[in-house]
Amino acid sequence: MTAFNRSSLEELLKKRFFYAPSFQAYGGVAGFYDYGPPGCALQSNIIDLWRKHFVLEEEMLEMDGAIITLADVLKTSGHVDKFTDWMVKDVKTGDIFRADHLVENVIETRLDGDKQARLTTENDATSQKDKKKKKGTVQAVKLEDSTKAEYEEILAKIDNYTGTELGEIIRNHNIKSPETGNDLTEPVEFNLMFESSIGPTGHLKGYLRPETAQGQFLNFKKFLEFNNDKMPFASASIGRSFRNEISPRSGLLRVREFTMAEIEHYVDPNNKKHVRFDEVKDVKLSLLPRYIQSEGKTVPVELAIGEAVEKKIVDNETLGYFLARTHLFLTMLGVKPDRLRFRQHMPNEMAHYACDCWDAEIQSSYGWIECVGCADRSAYDLTVHTNRTKEKLIVRESLAEPLVYDKTVLEINKKIFGPKFRQNAKIVEEYLTNLNEEQLEALKKELEDGNGKTMVSCADGNQYEISSDFLTIQKQTITEHVREYIPNVIEPSFGIGRILYSLIEHVYWTREGDEQRAVLSFPPRVAPFKCLLVPLSNNPAFSKLTRDLSSKLRKLHISIKVDDSSNSIGRRYSRNDELGTPFAITIDFQSVNDGTVTLRERDSTKQIREKIDTILQVLNDLVDEDVTWEEVLSKYPTFVQQELD
Ligand code: AMP
Repeated sequence: MTAFNRSSLEELLKKRFFYAPSFQAYGGVAGFYDYGPPGCALQSNIIDLWRKHFVLEEEMLEMDGAIITLADVLKTSGHVDKFTDWMVKDVKTGDIFRADHLVENVIETRLDGDKQARLTTENDATSQKDKKKKKGTVQAVKLEDSTKAEYEEILAKIDNYTGTELGEIIRNHNIKSPETGNDLTEPVEFNLMFESSIGPTGHLKGYLRPETAQGQFLNFKKFLEFNNDKMPFASASIGRSFRNEISPRSGLLRVREFTMAEIEHYVDPNNKKHVRFDEVKDVKLSLLPRYIQSEGKTVPVELAIGEAVEKKIVDNETLGYFLARTHLFLTMLGVKPDRLRFRQHMPNEMAHYACDCWDAEIQSSYGWIECVGCADRSAYDLTVHTNRTKEKLIVRESLAEPLVYDKTVLEINKKIFGPKFRQNAKIVEEYLTNLNEEQLEALKKELEDGNGKTMVSCADGNQYEISSDFLTIQKQTITEHVREYIPNVIEPSFGIGRILYSLIEHVYWTREGDEQRAVLSFPPRVAPFKCLLVPLSNNPAFSKLTRDLSSKLRKLHISIKVDDSSNSIGRRYSRNDELGTPFAITIDFQSVNDGTVTLRERDSTKQIREKIDTILQVLNDLVDEDVTWEEVLSKYPTFVQQELD
């Protein structure tokens, strides 16, 4: 098979209108793409399979939330303050770069230069030729061994640096503005959310949501009720999200508007087991845990997920369950297992809320790219929204055995307390009721030591005198029949565009000896169109047969493309190979006479010839992936086809 050539693939995707930059007639804006007919069909098939694999399979509760999100919600979730990337500016031109990407690019280029320089010294005969060929792309400069090791370590940890550390790397390694060679500013934070305002006054601030998750959290109470108060369960949402990326790049991989499919699985923090874990425990995953990366290495370990959870490499069963299910989903789409790995986040790299996080990374010509983030978000989101809104996003669980324990509690005599503090009563009460057991014990001691009086500082910055005349602090035996807890959330978050593009690279190949004849080998269920209809002639008898067949295929919900152009049959087949259409039915002169047609399979180009009804049945099974083409060939004789070109 010939080596992968990205520009040929890009040419194909453009020619067949899988997708194209938005607003092209106006010069386009980086980071926005429109999907054409095959791209659209491909995306909706991926989403459909996602819904079946996750939502239906696990009885998840799906919702469709508002995209414009109230600023308050995202302030509470932490996005207003922390959803940022580091950027640097060219001090003279003001050109802006995302700091970690710039460091990564420069260091990768220097390492490439080093590789070439080492090759050159190893084999001087070919080196001159090589040098000429590479001239103008990468400079062959040999690095000191220690610098090379340092660079490799920086790359392995690139997602883990703070702004200050990135600034240091830029200075210490003499990294300059790429085009001009000018100095760069220190990294500064840039918030990735698009701002908006709601209503005509413009006073109510909003943002385009950066993820679908917050909408799901805010509906937790309704979900729980819908689920008859049963835990654990998951909600799910598919929709557009927006991130004002500093430097969109790599086609669909880093864009400013994209479709996400997100699951929020709610679990008891004391029990993160999963009832169906046994079903996946033997699924083997390629894992790149934190301990390997912190050694500056990037070679993953192959482990069954059962073993990974047992050894605590993956924190808990539920997280492990979703890693395995994600692996099964992606490989079912056609992602190559040897180009899929799960990488654990380094501590600094984790989102502000997460307590463990693994990314499903797919390898493409752009390197290993995160396509799915699987995070254990702990109780973070539900806690912060509960605290902010006072709507309790909690679970109340009836206990079979009541829980009996001693607790230090505070009682306030409101009859004395209210009149004493008047308008400040609320502030002082809030201070007192927020004290934990340890603080209450300390206050009790202070009161005892101070003859029943002590001073406390409240949230308004003032000091108030507290007296044992109006409060008592004492141990009480508590009996609880209900346990209240805030669930933890395990969140697998899928970027559909990234999966779609990486998949296209994995299924793309060209036919032996003919680089012009490209094929996209999508599995039938994923392919944008399932069947090509090719009438060999414009004769009216053919048109009728084509119309009848089209209508039967439509009834079977098999998406078709009719190609009745005057191109040769070979040309028509190869045009559809480029669209990834897995099957083609050809209507020829014999069809008109005896009601048989041929069915061609895209990858093998082999055909069978049978009566129309048999072909429709076979095709239906093939499209649903109930049978394989090999099984069909073992049942029906191969038909030796007519001309190809
Ligand atoms: P995150 O919430 O950052 O973990 O993102 C979840 C998923 O969304 C990632 O795994 C990607 O697949 C996708 N994603 C995030 N940012 C972008 C982007 N700028 N362009 C395309 N997909 C993205």
